[in-house]
Amino acid sequence: MKRVGAPEVPSRAALSAPEMTTKQAPQALKAPEVVVPPAAPRSSAAHRHGGPGAGAGLQRLEVQRVFGPAQPKTGESNIILVGAPASGKGTQAKLLESKYGLVQISTGDLLRKAKGSPLGDEAATYMSAGKLVPDALVMKLLEQRLHALGTPPKGFILDGFPRTLAQAQGLSALLQGLGAKIDRVIVLEVPAQTVIGRISGRRSCGDCGEVYHLENKPPKKSGCCDKCDGPLIQREGDTVEKVKVRLDAFEAQTAKVIPFFERRGIVSRVDADRDSAEVLSDVTQILEPAPGGAGLAPLAAGE
Ligand code: AMP
Repeated sequence: MKRVGAPEVPSRAALSAPEMTTKQAPQALKAPEVVVPPAAPRSSAAHRHGGPGAGAGLQRLEVQRVFGPAQPKTGESNIILVGAPASGKGTQAKLLESKYGLVQISTGDLLRKAKGSPLGDEAATYMSAGKLVPDALVMKLLEQRLHALGTPPKGFILDGFPRTLAQAQGLSALLQGLGAKIDRVIVLEVPAQTVIGRISGRRSCGDCGEVYHLENKPPKKSGCCDKCDGPLIQREGDTVEKVKVRLDAFEAQTAKVIPFFERRGIVSRVDADRDSAEVLSDVTQILEPAPGGAGLAPLAAGE
């Protein structure tokens, strides 16, 4: 079966990846509580860089409203999750955030939170059509978010970024300037049919953003969020027609970022057409090499 983002020729990384099986699990794993690190003052380094909003159209207050306060350093590795819409990037990012104390940066979430600002409203017209938001606009948001992590930014998971070759190149240049790098790129592979099924049944809380699925992860009370009782909504880009546009954008543009990172030898591929716990188990094996090797150490209890 053709997988979204599957390589024509298996890469070295793909050949050395752990053996995986494809089986459809009945229930999605309920994500554990996400560890939210306490807010910390922005580092002086971030100030040196002008902090969020430097040279950009957004005012500092607007940036704080969108991003919240700067977060302290947690895990050290910087990871990118690449995958078609609904490949499970957001779910895996949250699980990794909890397991390793990393910080999830979802450009989709940043763009949604920016709604009401000139930048957010411009982005919304593309998002509701299922199209990619222009590179310059997303780069600006991403740059501001990375600066808010301190210099060099460490311990982040990019979820939904980069989505074009220009973004991948922009990210590399940006990180180089900040003295940081990407340690691993994990490609979550799913068949197009799975993407369509997952997206058309997806609902999210209009208040807290918690994500549900009408079949795989239904809310206890129809139409209401289990966590905050907020209204469950279908995102504008989540209809079947828009999903097809988004899948085309993935194939035409986002899949091109994979060879960019493969040339740097940091790509691993995971079969993401499975229960999120099984996917996490493979991702964990990739991020935690044999004892003695460099890699991520899970948080100890209470950390
Ligand atoms: P997501 O929540 O990651 O599925 O993103 C939702 C929508 O936000 C996408 O369909 C795009 O319209 C937009 N978007 C998110 N991230 C990016 C990006 N890196 N580049 C361009 N558009 C993006």
